[in-house]
Amino acid sequence: MNNFTYTRATSLSDAVNQAVADQNSMFIAGGTNLVDRLKVFLDQPSQLIDISRLQMQNIEPMADGSLRLGALVSNTAVADNSDIRRNYPMLARAILSGASQQIRNMATVGGNLLQRTRCPYYYDTAFPCNKRQPGTGCPAIAGINRTHAILGASEQCVAVHPSDMCVALAALDAVVEVASPQGQRQIPFKDFHRLPGNRPEQDTNLEPGELITAVILPSLSFGKSGVYLKIRDRASYSFALISVAAAVNLQEEQIQAARLAMGGVAHKPWRATAAEEFLIGKSADVATFTEAAEIALDLAKPLTHNGYKVELAKRAIRRALMVSAQGGGVV
Ligand SMILES: Cc1cc2nc3c(=O)[nH]c(=O)nc-3n(C[C@H](O)[C@H](O)[C@H](O)COP(=O)(O)OP(=O)(O)OC[C@H]3O[C@@H](n4cnc5c(N)ncnc54)[C@H](O)[C@@H]3O)c2cc1C
Ligand code: SF4
Repeated sequence: MNNFTYTRATSLSDAVNQAVADQNSMFIAGGTNLVDRLKVFLDQPSQLIDISRLQMQNIEPMADGSLRLGALVSNTAVADNSDIRRNYPMLARAILSGASQQIRNMATVGGNLLQRTRCPYYYDTAFPCNKRQPGTGCPAIAGINRTHAILGASEQCVAVHPSDMCVALAALDAVVEVASPQGQRQIPFKDFHRLPGNRPEQDTNLEPGELITAVILPSLSFGKSGVYLKIRDRASYSFALISVAAAVNLQEEQIQAARLAMGGVAHKPWRATAAEEFLIGKSADVATFTEAAEIALDLAKPLTHNGYKVELAKRAIRRALMVSAQGGGVV
């Protein structure tokens, strides 16, 4: 770990002003991802700005029916919240499928959005890596790539985004609220994370020094039927090989609206909008869901060792949609 100075932010404006004054500083919230990265020199900030005492620990219902999750609410508190369990069960299940109880107690909403890829080459500094050091190369492309991306990858990087929570947030059309010395702005979830393109070192569209203050969940009338299906190497304590967040709204067996997002497939949580559009007006049966899964994976480009993900993703989508059409529940 390199030397750095440590400061505890006393207010939101103190935090963002300090971050802008020293652009080599970083915020620390729960520390469950950042401290691991500091230990192996992946991040070498000159200053850590501890934001954990700021007043962003509430889950508040808003007048328009949306729910506002403060950036410092723990993953455990989100998953345990009765409004989330009732109205957004896919989010509660996505969170509970990740990490361990102890980590979820420390991990925060804001930190979860900004956790970095678990690509093994990124963490192993014996290898070059474009995400760690731009322009050095990507050993995963010709290396062991069974956990890597099948959608939206580039010649520069084939890493996947590791978060479960973010897959559900993508399906729910969440909005990220951020603050800087210029004030606040809101970023639709689909525009928050980036595909790698030629800048794989950039995971998000945040500007330097911007601080996440909250995530807003719009009211979703059919959210109760939402499901989260996660497939992984071990039954617990493992990142997703493939995950699916799905919800369908039915009237007399006909689909009125649908939400579908995937994890473990791309550099960002992957929203399958073409498949969602296909589903509207169709009957809720296996044939429809099979075709929707084909559409969702239409653009897949597997690497040497991850071709299995294409079929796995299709089957996971079909199952998640089927369970949602039956009213939701544990997949
Ligand atoms: C062993 C292990 C297993 C895990 N398994 C899973 C899993 O299966 N699924 C899953 O989804 N996650 C998993 N996680 C990841 C875990 O969920 C994240 O580490 C956690 O959510 C990060 O939150 P944090 O508050 O600890 O962030 P920190 O570690 O404090 O910060 C992470 C990053 O976010 C930045 N940051 C934090 N808060 C803000 C903010 N408000 N505004 C701007 N920047 C901010 C920091 O500067 C840093 O870059 C696992 C973690 C571990 C250690
Ligand atoms: S896939 Fe991305 S993170 Fe992994 S080695 Fe290649 S550039 Fe680095």
